[in-house]
Amino acid sequence: MIRTKKLDEKKLNFWESIYIVEIVKGLVVTMRHFFINLFFPSRIITVSYPEENLPLIGNAKLKSLHRIKLRKDGSPKCVACMMCATICPSKCIYIEADETENYVEKYPKVFNIDMSKCVMCGLCVEACPEDAISMDTGEIVGGSYDRFRNYKNGGLFLTKNELFRHLPHETISKSGAANRLANKYLEDKND
Ligand code: SF4
Ligand code: SF4
Repeated sequence: MIRTKKLDEKKLNFWESIYIVEIVKGLVVTMRHFFINLFFPSRIITVSYPEENLPLIGNAKLKSLHRIKLRKDGSPKCVACMMCATICPSKCIYIEADETENYVEKYPKVFNIDMSKCVMCGLCVEACPEDAISMDTGEIVGGSYDRFRNYKNGGLFLTKNELFRHLPHETISKSGAANRLANKYLEDKND
């Protein structure tokens, strides 16, 4: 059930209703920033985005660059059901499914996301029945002069070579069998 909260409109007092005091208050804030920046330039933080990024403060609701989660044995959790590609409003997910000998029925032989079309809505994450795709890498997608270039080469095109990954706090097996399995799912390189 969706809960709603009704907010009453705040009534203005006399001084607020004539706006003069509020305008002066706004000017004071503007002038404070102006003089602080003028006399203490070291306090100005200029970030050359997208070449530079500030570290993001952890937030469960933050939507950042996609990834496909891996199981402990290194295989992708994705079963190539196409739910994310179907619901994506931008139609920027492209998947080709293939059969696997593992205990899941299918795996994505090709999994591409064109980040130049993605609107970061998160619907793909919501739709995934396997909790396989997530937007929790904490990386914000920057701009690019060549949107069709692979993401790791400065473009905006994600393939499974970038998507199949685990986060530092997650563990996957380091055994040779697990590595071979992980490589098997990556061997159809599509960049
Ligand atoms: S975040 Fe939205 S637009 Fe981007 S790939 Fe997912 S469903 Fe498509
Ligand atoms: S990421 Fe999830 S929704 Fe998308 S194809 Fe894989 S299992 Fe299906």
